[in-house]
Amino acid sequence: MRGLFIHGKGDVRVENLPDPSPDDTDGVVVKVERTAICGSDLHIYHGDLGEGSFGIGHEAIGEVVEAGSGVQRFRTGDRVIVSGVVGCAQCGPCTRGSVTSCENDGGRVFGTNNALPGAQAEAIAVPKADTSLAKIPDGVSDASAVLLTDILPTGYLGAENANIAPGQDVAVVGCGPVGLMAIQTAQLFGPRRVFALDRVPARLAAAKALGAVPVDASSDPIAPILDATDGLGPHAVIEAVGGEATILTALQLVRKGGTVSVVGVPGPTPMPFPMGLALVKNLTFRIGVCPVPKFWPHLVPLIAEGRLQPDSVFTHEMGLGEGPEAYALFDSREDGVLKVMLDPTR
Ligand code: NAD
Ligand code: ZN
Repeated sequence: MRGLFIHGKGDVRVENLPDPSPDDTDGVVVKVERTAICGSDLHIYHGDLGEGSFGIGHEAIGEVVEAGSGVQRFRTGDRVIVSGVVGCAQCGPCTRGSVTSCENDGGRVFGTNNALPGAQAEAIAVPKADTSLAKIPDGVSDASAVLLTDILPTGYLGAENANIAPGQDVAVVGCGPVGLMAIQTAQLFGPRRVFALDRVPARLAAAKALGAVPVDASSDPIAPILDATDGLGPHAVIEAVGGEATILTALQLVRKGGTVSVVGVPGPTPMPFPMGLALVKNLTFRIGVCPVPKFWPHLVPLIAEGRLQPDSVFTHEMGLGEGPEAYALFDSREDGVLKVMLDPTR
């Protein structure tokens, strides 16, 4: 089968790989129908998360084509959403869906090293199928299903961690796909306004189309938001970039007593943290990797009812065989690109 492999900075290749088989009796093989590229893949592409050669990608939906004898909830022929992150399925946090707090193997992400295969492939072996998969229900499009593998739950994590109460002001720093998911899910908590910061005009326009107030971050974004909030700042700030400068912006923006919620992935290099500023603001700081399956019960019904319509984030669809070009396009942030879908049949 074909799959995308990364061999260090900027070097994504289409390769012929052995066909997968279930890694244990509780695993399955999913024939991938659609997969997508994530901002986290871009960190790997930039060499920011260490280097190596491995299959890349962690967002896939498809059909179960082989199931181990111990799998109970799924059988061949089921169309499924594959969680980008899997846990041991046995410890307390895993049984509650908090796979990223797994006490045994830490909540492993597909396609980030050699521990788990990449999802940008024609097929993928999924361990712990009973807790790593969800059937794609009626009313959920393929595009929404792909977003449920990672970034829609991640946006929701950002919003839930932000402690938003109805009527409050929120800011989202970064309007890439994850930031746009954070904007939509923050609105579930009834905020008065969501300020959306980015430097790319097409991304600010996408945020505005979702009802956010766009703020161009190519010049100082803090002053206009303070002006609009009586000098106080938003009650909650969600950071969806993962950069030192943007985390600092979030801490500077947030109102006293407010919450900064980071879902952007910072690199391994330690960052300075303005502890004194955090102290005088009495702020709450939350950060984490998304426990994807934990949020499916909240998000799937809202999509099925049409109350969440995240699909419009997909701007491009390309063949898996065009993987290197797709990475270059997503990285360029040109041509209005927001999220790139890959079709493994091409
Ligand atoms: P992306 O790279 O497309 O989006 C980042 C956005 O930030 C871009 O639109 C960029 O223009 C904007 N940006 C950069 N610098 C800025 C600045 N100074 N001010 C304002 N905006 C700025 O990626 P994405 O797919 O949206 O992912 C965003 C982040 O979320 C990444 O760090 C990714 O690794 C992370 N992520 C985290 C989880 C999790 O579980 N915590 C899951 C998925 C993705
Ligand atoms: Zn992702």
